[in-house]
Amino acid sequence: MGADASGAPDGRRADGRGFDAEEGADALHADFANIYAALDLKVGSKPKGHLSKKRILKAFAAQGILPTDVRIKAMTDRLDAFDDGDEISLDQFTRICRPSFGLVERMAKDELVIPDFRTFAGEIETIYERCLENGDGAVADYIPQLARVEPEQMGVSFCTVDGQRANYGDSDAPFCVQSSCKPINYCMALEALGEEEVHRHVGREPSGRSFNELALNHRYLPHNPMINAGAIMACSLIGRDKDLADRFDGVMRTWRALAGGDRPGYNNAVYLSEKATADRNFALAYFMRENEAFPDDTDILEVLDFYFQCCSIEMSTERMAVVAGTLASGGVCPTTGERVFSNDTVKDCLSLMYSCGMYDFSGEFAFSVGIPAKSGVSGVLMVVIPEVMGLAIWSPRLDKHGNSVRGVEFCKRLVKRFAFHNYDNIAERSDRIDPRRPREREETDYTFHLIRAASQGDVNEISRLTAFGVDLGSADYDGRTALHLAASEGRADVVEFLLSRGVDPRPRDRWGHTPHDDAERHKHDGIAARLER
Ligand code: GLU
Repeated sequence: MGADASGAPDGRRADGRGFDAEEGADALHADFANIYAALDLKVGSKPKGHLSKKRILKAFAAQGILPTDVRIKAMTDRLDAFDDGDEISLDQFTRICRPSFGLVERMAKDELVIPDFRTFAGEIETIYERCLENGDGAVADYIPQLARVEPEQMGVSFCTVDGQRANYGDSDAPFCVQSSCKPINYCMALEALGEEEVHRHVGREPSGRSFNELALNHRYLPHNPMINAGAIMACSLIGRDKDLADRFDGVMRTWRALAGGDRPGYNNAVYLSEKATADRNFALAYFMRENEAFPDDTDILEVLDFYFQCCSIEMSTERMAVVAGTLASGGVCPTTGERVFSNDTVKDCLSLMYSCGMYDFSGEFAFSVGIPAKSGVSGVLMVVIPEVMGLAIWSPRLDKHGNSVRGVEFCKRLVKRFAFHNYDNIAERSDRIDPRRPREREETDYTFHLIRAASQGDVNEISRLTAFGVDLGSADYDGRTALHLAASEGRADVVEFLLSRGVDPRPRDRWGHTPHDDAERHKHDGIAARLER
């Protein structure tokens, strides 16, 4: 290994850590060459020795990374300059993939949570097809908007914590979220007021009663936030300092962030019908007010309005799966890397979904399926397999408990085939498949990834790492930080991102150099000027 003017070694250290501008170049070239070869192998059965636009996109699709994924947008934009079959050299490939390096590398090394995605997705499709044969149940008919829904429809989508996605059937058909808004509203209340304050007004025990029963617990509070009384209470705890319009805006923004930036719809007819037929919900609110369950100064008519509006938000399974995937990854959206809820909030929410999410079938569902889920009368089922993936199943025919018939069947089949039941790991022997990446491969050196992403200009990966609590100012063995690498490599957007997150602008590496020195040395004048300021 030689040394450059700074005295820094010019290759990756033996321990695989140190990085500098030219330094990492050789190692990275080798990494890209490996990735290039690995992707070639992933498309089809025989490697061709080269990649094309078509083959690169195919390799992504085979891992469940859809062309619309924001993480590969810069890459797909660059690919647009090529025709489908044009051969893309290693050098071109390196330039094209740089902004998505983190994802591409994990994908090529089979480090996404479901490494054998194709097989897994095929199994899910089979389960979907089996469920289609089930014609039992009846659509909800308490409002005409639900009674009119075509009962044969079914959509299934899933999104893993690494943003691997697949959709089946009517996955883009809109449905109103109904009771599946309850976990989201509960999370919002927790984020606004904290667990202690929220649970001053709502319990956390299964009620053992019907979801809209006129009953409170022994403290005269609603039993939990997953039944109507508790959901109305959660609505009273969100955005208390705002007017109704801004409260609703906040809810829509949250759904949008949970769904990876896709704006949810809204069904005004459902809202009007809900409001017109809501005697029980009005009764519940008055009953709670009589028992002084609400915070002082609560306007219950406004809160009810807000609750009906939340139930009338429209999603598709495609979007809802990303929402569930965000809960599965502890509150960080798998496709955008944005943290929407804290880990603690999600933990509380999943606990209650597990014990109370499926109406009067909750105990049986927890026992036999063993996965947190929340259903709604529109026939939606939002299912969360923590640290693996979120699923959304929608099919409007309901059973006597108010759960989607096909949705419940889907979940039963899912845990029969895969080891996803919460307690499968202690089952003595099982013929169920565990499609997850093995645990021992999960160890991650976050600083190493951060520094590498900075040198590549991969802002997405950096924001994903941030969401997981990685310290953006952390330094490697040589005292090199993300800012040093971004400055050396001329990655202006990364420099901007890091500064906006308040990292120390003048850290010194072990040769005493600051990022500003690096920018000057490599003649990135704009960055040097920015760092000077
Ligand atoms: N809007 C319905 C109600 O409050 C929600 C029903 C549900 O999905 O459980 O009665």
